[in-house]
Amino acid sequence: MQVEGTNIQKELNPLANAEMQFDEAARLLHIEPGLREMLKRPRRATIVTLPVMMDDGQLQTFTGYRVQHSIIRGPAKGGIRYHQDVTLDEVEALAAWMTWKCAVVNIPFGGGKGGIAVDPAKLSRGELERLTRRYAADLSDLFGPDTDIPAPDVNTNEQIMAWIQDTYSMHARKTVTGVVTGKPVIAGGSLGRREATGRGVLFCVREACKHLTMPLAGARMAVQGFGNVGSVSAKLLAQDGAKLVAVSDVRGGIHNPAGLDVESLLRHVAQDGSVVGFPGSKPLTGSIIEYDCDILIPAALENQITHANADRVKARIVAEGANGPTTHEADRILAERKVFVIPDILCNSGGVTVSYFEWVQNNIGFYWTEDEVNQRLEQYMVKAFQDVLRLSVRHEVNMRVAAFVLAISRVVDVIHLRGVYA
Ligand code: NAD
Repeated sequence: MQVEGTNIQKELNPLANAEMQFDEAARLLHIEPGLREMLKRPRRATIVTLPVMMDDGQLQTFTGYRVQHSIIRGPAKGGIRYHQDVTLDEVEALAAWMTWKCAVVNIPFGGGKGGIAVDPAKLSRGELERLTRRYAADLSDLFGPDTDIPAPDVNTNEQIMAWIQDTYSMHARKTVTGVVTGKPVIAGGSLGRREATGRGVLFCVREACKHLTMPLAGARMAVQGFGNVGSVSAKLLAQDGAKLVAVSDVRGGIHNPAGLDVESLLRHVAQDGSVVGFPGSKPLTGSIIEYDCDILIPAALENQITHANADRVKARIVAEGANGPTTHEADRILAERKVFVIPDILCNSGGVTVSYFEWVQNNIGFYWTEDEVNQRLEQYMVKAFQDVLRLSVRHEVNMRVAAFVLAISRVVDVIHLRGVYA
């Protein structure tokens, strides 16, 4: 199918994609139109203007967002992204995906997301801290362990979570550990949280391989994005015998059909800041999405698999480490070609699942071992994968539609029980 002009803009709008994914499943569930409309809109969307004193004495103004898509199943939960291209539409889409993700993996949270339109690489550490604290202070009426709990996302990390935790705690006049997750372990974080999203990808890929009777040992994987999600996914899958043949980051891509040693690559990236120039690799000339492999892991940003390249994806399994990497139109093409897509709201839900464990540990003030965290994560992920797979077989729909069906029905059941306060 040709996708032209404004249709391309629509294809690449994450919010339009999130709505189309929702609509497809809502139709199958015969959700009434009024409720559908309600569930497409965010519960709250906040835009804040953030003045920051830069190191050179000049005042610079940034725009920040926090969207709570749903709080019907529990506090809004979702990461904060620092990226120059952050928009309200993107944050709204990411917040909605968080609602569905928390419901798929069945943890008692709603969905939220935040972001600041900034390229953090251009800020000094002091500027980054002041921007983060201003954002946290401005949104401290929304944030809270019982209301809205941020976590890391693209270009945010444990340090940034620690600054948010501290700013919120200073305003509350007491230390509040449960206001953010993904914070440093010594500041109340959970063991295993940093690796949780990649570990969840591993559990999903293992289940997918079993389902497809495809051996994971020796499977060739290509990974787009070598940050938190991409690097941990690659490392853990390599420990299970998969072979990393291509990898990319914002600076470029590399490949070696004979395999890249992930541990050495991690050391190279820690030193050089990029996968580019890794000894024993060649620069990648084409797109990593089209690379000849068995497992493709998009782990960077949205809209990487579109109508323009979906028919050239060679992988048998696409494991969506990133949120929204596949457009709605591309999904249709991949489904026709029998590519097994593990959808983002299932595949990368390991992060929010261990965030839930972190919040539970903060609430009870008792901390688990890393083994306990990882074992519980595996139970949640395998159950979620099997729940989605069962629905996908029963309704003869792809895994994304099945995941949305599961998630929407869980959210709608609660709405029907609680009613709509009016
Ligand atoms: P990160 O900032 O740690 O890493 C992002 C990586 O993507 C970096 O290696 C960066 O260089 C690379 N990248 C950016 N633009 C690129 C491009 N155009 N081509 C190739 N690589 C590019 O971020 P992260 O936390 O790993 O998040 C990655 C994705 O996973 C995002 O979609 C995020 O929403 C999603 N996600 C993250 C978590 C989490 O726990 N961190 C949980 C669920 C989903």
